[in-house]
Amino acid sequence: MDSRPGGGPRRSGIGPRERAALRLQLLGELDRVRGQVAGFRSTLDGLLAAADLEPPDDEHDPDGTTAYERAQVASLLAEADRRASALEQALASIDEPGFGICGGCGEPIGVERLQAVPGTERCVRCAGAGR
Ligand SMILES: [Zn+2]
Repeated sequence: MDSRPGGGPRRSGIGPRERAALRLQLLGELDRVRGQVAGFRSTLDGLLAAADLEPPDDEHDPDGTTAYERAQVASLLAEADRRASALEQALASIDEPGFGICGGCGEPIGVERLQAVPGTERCVRCAGAGR
């Protein structure tokens, strides 16, 4: 009842096979990113535990890198967390008609970009424009 050329709502141009491949890719990527999240979290826990052992009033930390290190790992953790959420969202919506449609301009994102940047919600142009 669909497939009338030129008619109907806008489509992402993603076929069932591409969708299945993208799902697998998203699952693999999500697995990898969750591993990163777990790794950063335990690194951060270790740094925080080490910081607890130091005298609280010691401003001149003999190991001056720890505060910086903590900030670094915390931001990596936040970034990986965001990435995992984006991937989960992409997986949750992969069967919906709007999947693969740019959230900025409403044009199809394109299968190549979806494969290159799993979980993206923006086409190349919109991502470049920072939308
Ligand atoms: Zn766009």
